Amino acid sequence: MAQQENEVLKVDGDGYVVDTEDCEARELAHRERGTARPITVVGNPVLHRECKDVTEFGPELAQLIDDMFASQRAAEGVGLAANQIGVDQKVFVYDCPDDEGVRHVGVVVNPELVDLPAERRILDDSNEGCLSVPTAYASLARPDYAEVTGQDAQGNPIKVRGTGYFARCLQHETDHLHGFLYIDKLSKRDRKDALRQMAEGTPRYETVPND
Ligand SMILES: [Zn+2]
Repeated sequence: MAQQENEVLKVDGDGYVVDTEDCEARELAHRERGTARPITVVGNPVLHRECKDVTEFGPELAQLIDDMFASQRAAEGVGLAANQIGVDQKVFVYDCPDDEGVRHVGVVVNPELVDLPAERRILDDSNEGCLSVPTAYASLARPDYAEVTGQDAQGNPIKVRGTGYFARCLQHETDHLHGFLYIDKLSKRDRKDALRQMAEGTPRYETVPND
């Protein structure tokens, strides 16, 4: 049995968590304590409704977070929401580079996206994919900067911010926990195309079959 570290990340001068330090060691510690679980895919009801708020910040949550890091690594993801392993709780983890290639590793419980002023909303139409829509990708315009408020694994209030691909990840994972997939934001035609890509592809990780 491994010692559960009471990990609390530092905050920077503006009050945002510093999630760029000791990434290798922190990610490894989580996934070594965790067990990878199969990934739910589009059509599974747990992905299409808002998850429950987390109210208990104990060992069960710590274990869930460890399992999520293990699952994220097994599926080669850069972010994972709890409902993607079938758990109806507002938690996401991430291991994702920003627009300067800097790696961010962390967890957000009960996340909410911060509404940004129009001048901060510079849209980036890069490709997006999702472990729950395996083998599909589509271009989707999203702001290239994002901020999320929420709590850490101990229940302390936190703020996370990100640029580039990491900004996309923060938005994508928060959307998951509110019951939305990125394909829900696509045009009808692009959504259909993404589902076709999924039907034609074979995921490189274990998924939960839909009934
Ligand atoms: Zn996703």
